[in-house]
Amino acid sequence: MQFKSIIGQKTLINKLITGYNENRIAHTQLFLGNEGSGALPVAIAFAQFLNCTNKRNNDSCGECPSCVKFEKFAHPDLHFYFPTATTRSVKKDPRSSLFLVEWRDYLTENNAYITLNGWYEHLGTGNKQGYIRKDDANELIGKLALKAYEGEYKIVIFWMVERMNETASNKLLKTLEEPPDSTIIILIGEKYEQLLPTIRSRSQLFKVPKLSDNDIASQLIKEGTENTRAEDIAILANGNWNLAKEISNDIEDTQFNCINFRKWLRLCFQPKDYIELLKFNQEIAKTGREKQKSFFNYGLEVVHNAILHNHNSSEKVKKAGEELDFSRKFAPFINEVNRVEMYTALNQAIYHIERNAHAGILFSDLSFTLVDLILKGRKNVAGK
Ligand SMILES: [Zn+2]
Repeated sequence: MQFKSIIGQKTLINKLITGYNENRIAHTQLFLGNEGSGALPVAIAFAQFLNCTNKRNNDSCGECPSCVKFEKFAHPDLHFYFPTATTRSVKKDPRSSLFLVEWRDYLTENNAYITLNGWYEHLGTGNKQGYIRKDDANELIGKLALKAYEGEYKIVIFWMVERMNETASNKLLKTLEEPPDSTIIILIGEKYEQLLPTIRSRSQLFKVPKLSDNDIASQLIKEGTENTRAEDIAILANGNWNLAKEISNDIEDTQFNCINFRKWLRLCFQPKDYIELLKFNQEIAKTGREKQKSFFNYGLEVVHNAILHNHNSSEKVKKAGEELDFSRKFAPFINEVNRVEMYTALNQAIYHIERNAHAGILFSDLSFTLVDLILKGRKNVAGK
């Protein structure tokens, strides 16, 4: 990562560059910042800058052999330690080095703006909390005993250092106190009060402030969000880029689901045109698994809202505008003769999507089920 791809944080970045230019870089640094402030991306960009062989304009070049490796988070002198736990593939003695592939993938997917929960989910740790452990400490001590591999600096980044357990931190006391020559240790944490005092006392503190609304809005606009919406999201995100992304994705998903679910129901309501319906199925089957799950979940919501409308509880339907209108109009056709089956069919679809079912077949199958179920609901209405 280059400094230029970091969201905001200009003051901190300038401070780091000045420190480098004046030849005073602390050996052990603590980057303290809330989730979504970008402490990890700044640390990685700083590490890349330090080892870049062609620095210019106060940034790394992004092109030299060192930068190319850093851009992939895979430079031999860049060492990452982060919380791990047992997973389906690592059943005992978890430690960072066993999860480097997953770690690099996760960083790449998110441009290094990551969260602890997101990481646990990516790893598949279940409900287990992760730790930075004794084995991590031992491996690091071993690695640091070797000379710098190819870069000018060896950089060690500990992410979420509050998750370092006491055994690990005791083993690392000396290393943190006085790392070997040309070694920079960057500790990244969110909650100062949760850090072991031994860690606090051995590092130079850099505060990573939360992002300004302006920083977040500009980045969203850069990524294609419309201006007013970007500003609204920025206010809700409260300086947290990860939250901003989450809100923005939710809005996109809801819009997508709302438009397409309505279209689907319309096509299933009066299926004169099966070609159109099949075309729709093929289109929606092309979207990713998460999107399909969210689509079916939206469908469950539609069924749920229909039941509320039909039981004189429309005030509990949390929809507005067109969405509310649609759910009210459609509600009568989801009634006592088909609502359970509809619920079950959508739930089963989610179940099968999670197990990698063929989306095209699944959507066609479900469309035909819906055609039948809606017809049943319509007959029930007509017979009343
Ligand atoms: Zn470079």
